[in-house]
Amino acid sequence: MVPLIDPFQRAITYLRVSVTDRCDFRCVYCMSENMTFLPKKELLTLEELDRMCSTFVHLGVRKLRITGGEPLVRKGIMTFFESMSRHLDSGDLDELTLTTNGSQLERFAQQLYDTGVRRINVSLDTLDEKKFADITRWGRLEQVLRGVDAALAVGLRVKINAVALKDFNEEELTTMTKWCADRGMDLTWIEVMPMGDIGNEDRLGQYWSLKDVRKAYENSYAVTDLAERTGGPARYVRLEETGQKIGFITPLSHNFCESCNRVRVTCTGEIYMCLGQEDMADLREPLRASPKDDTPLEDAIRAAILLKPKGHDFDYSRQKLDGQMPRHMSHTGG
Ligand code: SAM
Ligand code: SF4
Repeated sequence: MVPLIDPFQRAITYLRVSVTDRCDFRCVYCMSENMTFLPKKELLTLEELDRMCSTFVHLGVRKLRITGGEPLVRKGIMTFFESMSRHLDSGDLDELTLTTNGSQLERFAQQLYDTGVRRINVSLDTLDEKKFADITRWGRLEQVLRGVDAALAVGLRVKINAVALKDFNEEELTTMTKWCADRGMDLTWIEVMPMGDIGNEDRLGQYWSLKDVRKAYENSYAVTDLAERTGGPARYVRLEETGQKIGFITPLSHNFCESCNRVRVTCTGEIYMCLGQEDMADLREPLRASPKDDTPLEDAIRAAILLKPKGHDFDYSRQKLDGQMPRHMSHTGG
């Protein structure tokens, strides 16, 4: 099988799949309070998601991240994880993983572990109950904390992802870092991205540059740069005092496109070749048109990969959001 190589000689080995556009939270930077969700027939069924992901694995994808919306609110999603575990068993897939808001982890942690998931990312921006309720609108901190504990208890490695917001979680940098360190968890900060029409209200908090987040660490810890690269927009340092890895995801700076190894598939079967560009291709049509034969789907995937752009168009200089994307993170999966 010829692997997926784009026109810039980047091998595509990492697929992020959004399995639903729905969510039990309404984070202010991600969704408006009154979201209209897609009709069910637009969504790939669990069987179609299986065929989609399995075809990518067949074409050389080694890492699969399930995201959303909130993936764990999709009905029957555990049968999908169970089914995907066959690719781990066969050695065709190195990693099956998940990005979640943590609300359903107490219920699903053990089953996730049993299907071969070993590491998960939990998005959590604050440890303050009131602030958590404000930023997620509908979330309850205590439920997420119980979820994180449950995940750790069954042996999952948990990384916390926090969106960096000035005047919001700026003052929690050390408390969140310590809370993570006490539980053996790494912590990654994400720069807020100008995505989706999230309603008229101001975002809670302001853009907090990760350069400044890093400076804040340097004031309190001995910080060592790590050479580690994931092919994505993350850079890592180690805090010598805690041994923890701290990540910085700066999707808006043009410093990672040359090593990009990933594509995204939405819950409706659209493939986005670059998070920062609107170019996409429909994979649902070839998938549905040929229920028994995956060849048309494989051809459509290969054709899409040939359109993967060299880089994206965000420009955050002088705080001008030139590359603003009209679509929601919950649609493309972040
Ligand atoms: N619901 C799951 C969760 O929250 O982890 C998975 C989907 S969510 C869209 C994936 C990630 O995108 C989360 O870590 C969230 O904080 C991040 N995100 C959403 N909107 C964002 C934005 N405008 N800028 C930066 N990160 C964003
Ligand atoms: Fe839901 Fe995740 Fe978006 Fe928050 S960031 S609204 S948890 S999809």
